[in-house]
Amino acid sequence: KLFNEIQELKGNIRVYCRIRPFLLGQREKQTIVDYIGEDGELVIANPSKPGKDSHRLFKFNKVFGLAATQEEIFSDIQPLIRSVLDGFNVCIFAYGQTGSGKTFTMTGPTGATKENWGVNYRALNDLFDISQSRRSALTYEMGVQMIEIYNEQTHRIHDFSMSIICFLDLRTLGILTQLQPNGLAVPDASMQPVNSTSDVMEIMDVGLRNRAVGATALNERSSRSHSVVTVNVRGKDLKTGAALLGNLHLVDLAGSERVDRSEVTGDRLREAQHINKSLSALGDVIFALAQKSPHVPYRNSKLTQVLQSALGGQAKTLMFVQLNPDVNSYSESLSTLKFAERVS
Ligand code: ADP
Ligand code: MG
Repeated sequence: KLFNEIQELKGNIRVYCRIRPFLLGQREKQTIVDYIGEDGELVIANPSKPGKDSHRLFKFNKVFGLAATQEEIFSDIQPLIRSVLDGFNVCIFAYGQTGSGKTFTMTGPTGATKENWGVNYRALNDLFDISQSRRSALTYEMGVQMIEIYNEQTHRIHDFSMSIICFLDLRTLGILTQLQPNGLAVPDASMQPVNSTSDVMEIMDVGLRNRAVGATALNERSSRSHSVVTVNVRGKDLKTGAALLGNLHLVDLAGSERVDRSEVTGDRLREAQHINKSLSALGDVIFALAQKSPHVPYRNSKLTQVLQSALGGQAKTLMFVQLNPDVNSYSESLSTLKFAERVS
């Protein structure tokens, strides 16, 4: 049964839409959200241009409306994240224009408390807890790496690793080991061991702060770079020595807004071109995977090269398509939705 489930999950791509609320302190604005269905339907309209053809329907696996909480989002994706401990590769993206809530979804707001932690804190916290609570003796080692991809160059932000003694059902382990022969990217020797959830959170904070500092110094560079948090998991059965490998990639993409070529030059133009190139390369890769195409064009950008082993095969991909509900963002939102339509 398990084997069949794994077969069915091959090439599994899910697309969720999340619409952020209007921000506190802003006066009430007109929204483009016309209707959100129970089954992932989203109808948007441009209230400043009413008319019969102005309504457009998009279909997602799920739509999270303006009131969705961080906890609701996480409880939906928790099984996906936990599957990493069973040897799956999972990739979660946040896509959308700057200001649409990508970082809020993936990390949380600046100075987040536990209640509004984003996916990456919750995921690490959960993987740590679950790996400690499993049943028959097993050791999990986790290596966490944080990188930034800016102008098609990769920068390492922070690395750490953790070792946990924990438990897993042995039969499950046997099957998954056979199916998961690919290698684990061996973590850097300078990695720090961690022993508790609060250690994990502290180290994550250092990494995220590094990014934030860099961002201020380089004028909000964070919105023009992709940030990738990777968790490599190696589970080892203490009796048999059998191993399973899984990894989780959490990707906060660069802002997808189109930059008017007539208005920017030099560095900004170059950045915009790199972002365009890598986001469309990502779209092409996911599209090829969704079509089960024999050729997947991974080589066209740094982003897709870095994520090559995490996309395709038995990997599970989830994309959060982020929207700003404001009517002023209508045309950007429409182009975000068109991107989503292509990959879903
Ligand atoms: P992005 O990373 O796409 O540029 P941010 O995550 O920085 O966007 O979000 C822009 C602003 O909106 C931030 O102030 C953020 O805290 C706020 N925000 C985004 N999503 C939500 C949400 N779901 N609930 C409350 N505030 C949000
Ligand atoms: Mg951001």
